[in-house]
Amino acid sequence: MSISQDQVVSIRYTLKDDAGGVIDTSGDGAPLTYLHGHGNLIPGLERELAGKGVGDKVQVKIAPADGYGEHDAALVQRVPRRALKGVPNVRVGMRLHAQTEQGPRAVTVTQVTGDMVTLDGNHPLAGQNLNFEVEVTEVRSATAEELSHGHVHGPGGHDH
Ligand code: ZN
Repeated sequence: MSISQDQVVSIRYTLKDDAGGVIDTSGDGAPLTYLHGHGNLIPGLERELAGKGVGDKVQVKIAPADGYGEHDAALVQRVPRRALKGVPNVRVGMRLHAQTEQGPRAVTVTQVTGDMVTLDGNHPLAGQNLNFEVEVTEVRSATAEELSHGHVHGPGGHDH
């Protein structure tokens, strides 16, 4: 069975940056399982996996436009520390939910200078090439319930 729309696909993967540093990996644990064709993976990776089957290996570099998007400077803002009341010990690398000019969104603290804090609303991997090594470990048809929810249920997926 090859990977196409509405199939449930399990993959083992390692994601590296351009310098070869590992950003994320499925490791030795359960593979990542997703419903193909429903926007659950970044577009560039879904496209590469289409037509592949169990045992196939894919090595691909995905540009930001097909990954987590370009880094958008408009999503970076500096706020006074007092604007983050209720958040003790603000430090670089923290992920927060903040009220921004674009509404509430997840932001990352990227700089703390004196009394000013820089918040970046971009995805942490925005603007980066994504170097994936992927092995397909299972392909099956989705259940009707999975299709109606738009995501996978059961082992390796989510239950509800
Ligand atoms: Zn569900």
